[in-house]
Amino acid sequence: MLDYDLHCHSNVSDGLLPPAELMARAAGRGVKFIALTDHDDTDGLAEAAQAAEKHQMKFINGVEISVSWRSHTLHIVGLNIDPKNKALQAGLHSVREGRGERARLMSESLARAGIGGVLEGAYQYASNREIIGRTHFARYLVETGHAKDVRSVFKNFLVKGKPGFVPHQWAALNDTINWINGSGGVAVLAHPGRYTSGRKPMGRKTLRELLAEFVEMGGRGIEVVTGSHTPEQYAEFAKYATEFNLLSSCGSDFHGPGESYRDLGRLPDLPLECRPIWQAWESARQ
Ligand code: AMP
Ligand code: MN
Ligand code: MN
Ligand code: MN
Repeated sequence: MLDYDLHCHSNVSDGLLPPAELMARAAGRGVKFIALTDHDDTDGLAEAAQAAEKHQMKFINGVEISVSWRSHTLHIVGLNIDPKNKALQAGLHSVREGRGERARLMSESLARAGIGGVLEGAYQYASNREIIGRTHFARYLVETGHAKDVRSVFKNFLVKGKPGFVPHQWAALNDTINWINGSGGVAVLAHPGRYTSGRKPMGRKTLRELLAEFVEMGGRGIEVVTGSHTPEQYAEFAKYATEFNLLSSCGSDFHGPGESYRDLGRLPDLPLECRPIWQAWESARQ
């Protein structure tokens, strides 16, 4: 079992807990080495770092950036970034900017399907208005009885072909990798098993093309163990890590109690052939 968790969310993006509470929960579950990776925003890092230190955890500054690549939305995690880096902050600002307008269009789409007043409702769940996103909409739709839980919202709403879905242009992959690398971080392809083409998983050919481009552009890591992967997918993506000479990462992708695939920490070990991404930081471990 691993005591590393390099992917989780606070209420600075679409998690439920404030950064300090998230860190306390992680420490209570035996995590010793943690990264906070809020979507498109680094505002929670200072509070989280302070709380992590109090709980004797080694803290890594992180972020999860929304990217459009071909017809896909991808998530790229930046680990060990410098949140003070100007180019990174300008980039994140540009990614956040589109979220307000997208939210308005999502609400209009739901209104056309007979569900009104969702915009104001969703904003009630967004502690940080700049990161308004689908999870906040989902929580409101659950509260108002349109779905039984957040996961079923993502089956019936907010995804391609369903009410509330709005196509959106996120950051470019090469820009994202440059922002991360330029701030001293490592770019990691998040939850590769989650990307789909329509209802089917992204095909192997497309995935190989993505990984080749990612490496060519300066990407260095891949999440092998993540909350949304099955054990078979740990093995599958460990093979891709070896093939593309990528460092392997692990993270729960925890968003909140009762809402996520996994709680914080207690993740299974990486397959033996993997080179853990944290080896370079290990000397700093307390
Ligand atoms: P957004 O960046 O606004 O498009 O929202 C993306 C977020 O929605 C992800 O980071 C997840 O937190 C959440 N999400 C996406 N798909 C699902 C799903 N099937 N079940 C639960 N949450 C999901
Ligand atoms: Mn999320
Ligand atoms: Mn993600
Ligand atoms: Mn995430």
